Amino acid sequence: MAERSYDFLMPSVNFFGPGVISKIGDRAKMLGMKKPVIVTDKFLEGLKDGAVEQTLDSLKAAGVDYVVYNNVEPNPKIRNIKEVKKLYEESGADSIITVGGGSAHDTGKGAGIILTNGDDITKLAGIETLDKALPPLIAVNTTAGTGSELTRHAVITNEETHLKFVVVSWRNIPLVSFNDPTLMLDVPKGLTTATGMDAFVQAVEPYVSVDHNPITDSQCVEAIKLIETSLREAVANGHNLDARTKMVEAEMLAGMAFNNANLGYVHAMAHQLGGQYDAPHGVCCALLLPYVEEYNIIACPDRFAQLAEIMGENTEGLSTRDAAELAIKAMKQLSEDVGIPHSIKKIGAKPEDFELMAENALKDGNAFSNPRKGTKEDIIKIFQAAYDAE
Ligand code: NAD
Repeated sequence: MAERSYDFLMPSVNFFGPGVISKIGDRAKMLGMKKPVIVTDKFLEGLKDGAVEQTLDSLKAAGVDYVVYNNVEPNPKIRNIKEVKKLYEESGADSIITVGGGSAHDTGKGAGIILTNGDDITKLAGIETLDKALPPLIAVNTTAGTGSELTRHAVITNEETHLKFVVVSWRNIPLVSFNDPTLMLDVPKGLTTATGMDAFVQAVEPYVSVDHNPITDSQCVEAIKLIETSLREAVANGHNLDARTKMVEAEMLAGMAFNNANLGYVHAMAHQLGGQYDAPHGVCCALLLPYVEEYNIIACPDRFAQLAEIMGENTEGLSTRDAAELAIKAMKQLSEDVGIPHSIKKIGAKPEDFELMAENALKDGNAFSNPRKGTKEDIIKIFQAAYDAE
C-alpha cells in the first residue's frame, strides 16, 4: 500500500449517460471557447448522426464556431499532433475538442502540449515535464475504453523510431469529459473486445500497483465486476444499451483508478508491441496480461487472491497461492470468451525484437509502479511466454 499521502486527479466535470452529448455546445460556450479545433478521424466524421455530427450540431446551436482536423491515426503519431498544431495556428483557433477513442484524445493532448510547451514532444516524455497549461480541452469519448478522456496521459508514437512514449502530467487532463453510451452502440465487435479488454487491464494493473490506495481500490473492484458481467454481453450484442452503459461506467472507473494508482508491466510492454507492430492497444494489453500477472503473483499473492474473488471465482478452502492462480485462469477465460487470440505471434511479434523492446519497456513510465521489479531478462521471458502460447 502506498503512503497515505496522494493527490487524486480527474476532470472537474464529467458528463455521463445516454443523450448527454447534446450539452456540449453550451458547455463549450460556458468555458469561453470561441473556435475549437475538433480532433477526430474521417470515419467518425462521416458517421450519420454519429459523435462528430452530434457534437457539431450542438456547437452550432450554441453559436460556437469550429474547424475540423479529421486525420487522427490509431496509435497517433508525432506527424498527427504537428498537423493539429498547424491547423490550430493557421485557423485562429482557441481551444480543442477531441471526438473519438484514445487516439483522438491523445492527438488533442499531444497538439496542446506542443502548442504551449515547445515543439519537440520527445523531450517531454516522462512524468510531470510540462511547465505550461494546454489550451482548454474537452474530450468526447466514443470507445469503452482507454480512459484517456479522463487521464493525465498522452500516448504518442514516434513514427521514425517506432517507439511509443507517454507524457504524464496533470496539465494534460481534459477540463470536461463526455461519455454517452448511445455513441458506442455501433462500435464493431473487434473494437468492443479490444477496448473492453484495455479497460479490464486498466482496472487490474492499478489494483496490484505499488501506488494503489483505498480510493483507487474501490474503483478497480467495481470496474472489474462491471466488466466481468457486461463485456461478454456487449461483444455478443453491441446494441445492448445496458451492457454498453455498464462498460462505459467501468472504463471511467478504471480510467480514474489508473490515473492515480498508475499501471505496470502490461502497459509498459504493450506500448512496445503497439509502437513496433502498429497493433491495437487493447489487444496488445490482453495478450500480455496473464503472462505478466503470473510473473507478478509472488510480489502480492493476497491481492491476486482477492482478484479471483472479485472475478467471481470460488476460492474457499484454497491456499493464497492457489486462489491467486485462479485469478490468472479467470483473466484467460475472459480473453478467450471475447475472442482475443492466444499468442503475440498473431500481431506480428518477432523474437529478435524482444531484447530491444524489453529494454524500452523498463524505461516506460508505466513500469515503475509494477509490483515486482524485473530485469531485462525477465521481460524477455514474459514476451517469449506470450509468443509461445498456443
Ligand atoms: P482508437 O481511438 O485508436 O480508435 C480505433 C478505431 O475505432 C478508429 O479507427 C476509430 O475511427 C474507430 N472508432 C472509435 N470510436 C468508434 C465508434 N463509436 N464507432 C465505430 N468506430 C469507432 O481506439 P482506442 O482503443 O480507444 O485508443 C487506443 C489508443 O489510446 C492507443 O494509442 C493507446 O495507446 C491509447 N491509450 C491512451 C490512454 C491514455 O490515458 N491517454 C490509455 C490507454 C490507451
